[in-house]
Amino acid sequence: MSDNKGMETNILVIDDSESVRKEIIQTLKSHSVATYFHEASDGIEGLKVLLDIKINLVLCDVEMPRLDGFRFLSMVRARDELKCIPFIMLTAKEDQESKMRGFELGVADYITKPFGPGELVARVKVHLQIKKLQDELIKANELLLEMSYTDHLTGLYNRRYLMEVLEREYSRAQRTGGVLSLLILDIDHFKEVNDRFGHQEGDAVLARTASIFSNELRGYDTAVRFGGDEYVAVLPDTSLNDATAVAERIRKSVGDNTFGGRLKGERITVSLGIAAYPGKEVETIEDLVREADGALYRAKAGGRNRTGGPLSLF
Ligand code: GH3
Ligand code: MG
Repeated sequence: MSDNKGMETNILVIDDSESVRKEIIQTLKSHSVATYFHEASDGIEGLKVLLDIKINLVLCDVEMPRLDGFRFLSMVRARDELKCIPFIMLTAKEDQESKMRGFELGVADYITKPFGPGELVARVKVHLQIKKLQDELIKANELLLEMSYTDHLTGLYNRRYLMEVLEREYSRAQRTGGVLSLLILDIDHFKEVNDRFGHQEGDAVLARTASIFSNELRGYDTAVRFGGDEYVAVLPDTSLNDATAVAERIRKSVGDNTFGGRLKGERITVSLGIAAYPGKEVETIEDLVREADGALYRAKAGGRNRTGGPLSLF
């Protein structure tokens, strides 16, 4: 359903003359240029439609009472979500100067009245096509950006994204006097999984552990694959105590998990390390990461399948 919705084409015709609107819509309809046509008799009405419906192209009269076409366009362009909609202006006169002014404001094209149906259809088609390509490009770029922040195997964020989140959250905690916790998880004896069952099963264990890890976090926490069998979570507004509870929940969840297939009967355990800002020895982001790593090291040294915290709490 939503896919079809994305394919729909909506055109908005703004003109104070009802007969002009009807004529334009009739012509475009008879050439199946768009799926739906909307009309408005002035800019105010037009803006309401633009805010309500995803419009692909606007045909707009330049001379309208109250708010002329150019001023209306400037108003629309000021809104981020409406910036990329092509406007084709309908103008009665061949006034070069006003046309140039319009192009500077972002007009896509002009149609001079009186116009024939052929020209109307051709220009609208060209600009719908450009708009379609532009939308595809924006989508592709968004996807690329998302991919550049994602770890393929687990679907968690990657290390690059972690650094951005940490910088944002750390400075927010500093600015607002808030708290922030960092949690590092490392799978116990993971090399053995690879050795005994092969890399493919190893990958499955990594993916399952990642999914348990992120499912135990809140919506505004960030789960990252730090590398290998190591995962990190950034927990905003979370004290060391609360982070310890989260870490223990994750540890138990992973330990309780059962596998199927070749891994049937196998149990995986994890060790975790936590650190918090503000905290002893924590003055920078690097300190926070180092402290959490040190806590993880102590959890491993202490026998694994446990959560480590700052030294002073031991
Ligand atoms: P420890 O309890 O001390 O953590 O022991 P360990 O065996 O888990 O040791 P370590 O964490 O150092 O080992 C991580 C291993 O993870 C080493 C590497 O071969 C394996 N590994 C790293 N990335 C991948 C991956 O993408 N897929 C698979 N299957 N294995 C990976
Ligand atoms: Mg490990």
